[in-house]
Amino acid sequence: MGEIVFWTLVRLAIVIPGLIILSSYIDFRYWWFISILAIYLLVIYPTVSQYRKFEERSKDVVEGTLCSSCKHFSPSSVFCNKYDKHPTVDYIPCEGQSWEPKE
Ligand code: SF4
Repeated sequence: MGEIVFWTLVRLAIVIPGLIILSSYIDFRYWWFISILAIYLLVIYPTVSQYRKFEERSKDVVEGTLCSSCKHFSPSSVFCNKYDKHPTVDYIPCEGQSWEPKE
């Protein structure tokens, strides 16, 4: 999840200065249209696409592991808050020893 945020910020850091530079070369009314299109195509679409892939990859962990029913598990980041690790289908960081039910 952090990787998605990082690359979104990198893309924004490239696109925004590019659009500012572009504004001095083209007419303002076209610049708005190009800006909206560029932000959608270069920032929003890749972010949504990356997030969907992340959700697909983590679906099995979020729905089908011991961690998914534990109060220390954060489903949005697929992360064990107690052990600071990412559980997988084959890897439960505490091996079940620290499992606690969600409240
Ligand atoms: S404490 Fe154990 S069961 Fe709970 S989320 Fe962490 S690794 Fe999974």
